[in-house]
Amino acid sequence: MTNKRTAIHVKPREGRRARAGAPWLFSNEIDMTAKTLAPGAVVNVVGDDGRVFGTGTFNAKSLIAVRLLDPAADIVLDAEFFAKKLKRALALRETLYAAPYYRLVNAEGDGLPGLTIDRFADTCVVQITTAGMEALLEPLLAALDETLQPENVVLRADAPARSLEGLELYVRAAKGNAGRIAVEENGVRYFADLEAGQKTGWYYDQRDNRAFLASLTRGKSVLDAYCYTGGFALAAAHAGAKDVAGLDSSTPALGLAQEAAAANNLTCKFVKADVFEELERLWAARESFDVVVADPPPFVKSKKDLEPGAKAYRKLARLAASVTAPGGFLLVASCSHNIPLERFLSECAAGILRAGRSARLIRQSGAAGDHPTHPMLPESAYLKALVYTLD
Ligand code: SAH
Repeated sequence: MTNKRTAIHVKPREGRRARAGAPWLFSNEIDMTAKTLAPGAVVNVVGDDGRVFGTGTFNAKSLIAVRLLDPAADIVLDAEFFAKKLKRALALRETLYAAPYYRLVNAEGDGLPGLTIDRFADTCVVQITTAGMEALLEPLLAALDETLQPENVVLRADAPARSLEGLELYVRAAKGNAGRIAVEENGVRYFADLEAGQKTGWYYDQRDNRAFLASLTRGKSVLDAYCYTGGFALAAAHAGAKDVAGLDSSTPALGLAQEAAAANNLTCKFVKADVFEELERLWAARESFDVVVADPPPFVKSKKDLEPGAKAYRKLARLAASVTAPGGFLLVASCSHNIPLERFLSECAAGILRAGRSARLIRQSGAAGDHPTHPMLPESAYLKALVYTLD
């Protein structure tokens, strides 16, 4: 005999997005009499008309109070459940990539809200951002072991989003050890620090954009602003760029970039600098580059930052365009999901115009295929990358 699972009731005529297939219910859409449930409790979700929304996890502390994991009620979220989801996620990546370096799980996009897993061969970095997923850590890790038998599993439970769910922050190895590893991408060997690096240690999302940008750089000079551990810069150098410089404010990231340059026998100059200040200086000195990349940290961290953040993107596009040579290429990226694509496009256009340049937009893209999005959550496709050629 099992105990009957708590049912969460969707209010009459509420839950419009969930009725259309989205995996979220907001706290104002449901009957919150269940708010005494432990954060992350597994629940059934039903409508007033008896309609079943499915099995989900509940957290009264979060605005997104329910996250659905399955369209049927009473689904047991055990290791078997997770193994099925992980195998489905793995099958997609094995189709996309020849080598075992990719984002293995992209949260709602892979049917697992609150969970991302980046795979670096036999090491997995697990990032959990919801109380629901945190409470399911044990069956999840058992399923990961069964599916991939990784040697090392690192828990990066230090994303700021965890505080919205009332979760503590920590970083630890659940298996083996964490630390520095090599990443292979587009024929280049990079290094990442999985414990102390940003996010999971490596940005797989830019993989296809790095490859495209690199294809434009043979024999060219390249400036990679916000280079982190050398993602774009080394891809360009590997593709035959003749003069490559990277800028970043993080000393450890620049150290890994430099080491990766040496490991690949490539020559790149990595400089510690504030990008806005350095671009102003280069502009004043009338220096320019054939190809410029500007891939900054998120300028719009929350909805209320939209106006100042949008202005910062405009300024960045202006300064980056100012140091792009005539006939050159400029890539500007945003990883803020709080700025819509249309707005980002118009700010970049305004910045380039303000620099006195005319441009053609030649490519508009997002994250690579290992970052699937739930079709009903288009806003979770946070990454936008625009490539222009400038006269
Ligand atoms: N392009 C990189 C990812 C960039 S992430 C890649 O392909 O992997 C954003 C980077 O901006 C981080 O490395 C961070 O250290 C750096 N950063 C943040 N603020 C900065 C500033 N004011 N000046 C220079 N770098 C900055």
